Amino acid sequence: MSSSQFAANRPAPVMPLPPSLWAATAPPAPPTPALYESLTTDVLVIGGGFTGLSTALHLAETGARVCVLEASEPGWGASGRNGGQVNPTLKHDPDELVRLFGAARAEPLIDTVSRSADLVFDLIARHGIDCQPLRSGWLQLSYSPAAVPAMHARAEQWARRGAPVELLDHAAVARRVGTQAFAGGWLDGRAGAIQPLAYTRGLVRAAQRAGAAVHGGTAVTALERHGSHWVAATDTGARVTAGQVVIATNGYTGPLWPGLAQTVLSANSFIVATQPLRGSDAQGILTQGETASTSQRLLLYFRKDAHGRLLMGGRGFFADPRGPQDFAHLERSLELLFPQLGPLTYEYRWAGRIAITRDFMPHVHEPAPGIVMALGCNGRGIALCTSLGKHIAARLAGKGEDFPYPVTPVTRIPLHGLQRFYIAAGVAWYSLLDKLG
Ligand SMILES: Cc1cc2nc3c(=O)[nH]c(=O)nc-3n(C[C@H](O)[C@H](O)[C@H](O)COP(=O)(O)OP(=O)(O)OC[C@H]3O[C@@H](n4cnc5c(N)ncnc54)[C@H](O)[C@@H]3O)c2cc1C
Repeated sequence: MSSSQFAANRPAPVMPLPPSLWAATAPPAPPTPALYESLTTDVLVIGGGFTGLSTALHLAETGARVCVLEASEPGWGASGRNGGQVNPTLKHDPDELVRLFGAARAEPLIDTVSRSADLVFDLIARHGIDCQPLRSGWLQLSYSPAAVPAMHARAEQWARRGAPVELLDHAAVARRVGTQAFAGGWLDGRAGAIQPLAYTRGLVRAAQRAGAAVHGGTAVTALERHGSHWVAATDTGARVTAGQVVIATNGYTGPLWPGLAQTVLSANSFIVATQPLRGSDAQGILTQGETASTSQRLLLYFRKDAHGRLLMGGRGFFADPRGPQDFAHLERSLELLFPQLGPLTYEYRWAGRIAITRDFMPHVHEPAPGIVMALGCNGRGIALCTSLGKHIAARLAGKGEDFPYPVTPVTRIPLHGLQRFYIAAGVAWYSLLDKLG
């Protein structure tokens, strides 16, 4: 990486990592100092979450010069705050994808998504990432008996494509999960759990070892085309000149690229974590260490961490949480599911932003030569963003003939300025549909 000039050496205003279970328990972050020196690189990656870091790692492994710029610290966004459920699925079921895209385009996409959890656990093993990986599967659970056949049909669609699945009735769910609340469900054996901030930091270390430069505290403020290159201005004063740029800013996308922020709804998801449960209380719940989510439109997701804390996540509001009262719905859900635990004490409450797309598909755009952007994993980003990063790296390295994800134009959501109202109306509407069953 060649440096060309020195810029004003002033500290950038870095937003500290918000308090969470993951921030309190992750291994220390590797050094990612802010960039004050202008430089030239092959690929500039903007955003230090799973998408950006997986792209950087896989590109650096091809020998390319890569520089990641992250406004705060890697993992500051959704990647360091999520539920840690590694689920290799899209919102759409496989047969629905075939209906939407045709078998020729859909089956390679389905296969890529299906292997995306393998990719995460392989990277963890290959790079020795210390992030409490556990591959015990994901339970998708239904309260309503009427919804169980549809869930089993979904499981069968994956089973036809080789996924290890188990169909579960009320009794089987009660035995595994430790609650009588569910009518049935299925187990997706490809899935698992991680400590997501620890995984993010492990990706940083792996990318650095492969030769990538990773800088926190450096926000890109403008991008301009200069001949065959892009020049990024930053809030530290450094300028980065790159042949190719990847924008991986997801739910935290700002005005950097015209219209990009308006392609997604940025909604908050909230999580609470209890104190570690004691002995037999913990053992009777999610007995094999499975992760779980409900099948409602406004789904709840829950799991235990490595120390027996129970985590419950679900819908938040458009705005960031104001205090513990904004998490009361999640605490109520947990206590309704597991009344045998009695009143629970909560150690952590936190939130982060997901990016929701109109078609519930992840979006990849290439609106100008040398620019790729990927966002919108709709709350399923651990496996999907890691996979997107790998495939974007291959595409930028010239090996992307078989790029499995659809590449679409940047299309704004109509009346996007009203997203706060869309989200509130969506929550109210989905909650009504969920109540009607
Ligand atoms: C509470 C919550 C729970 C979730 N649970 C799960 C789960 O259990 N399983 C699952 O698979 N997915 C889950 N998700 C979704 C998953 O976390 C995301 O899909 C994924 O982390 C997105 O990764 P990313 O790299 O695209 O974006 P992010 O991790 O959000 O990273 C984007 C980064 O871009 C940076 N940035 C923005 N603008 C600039 C700029 N101009 N210059 C430099 N940097 C910039 C931001 O600071 C941020 O760090 C959850 C999300 C949340 C919020």
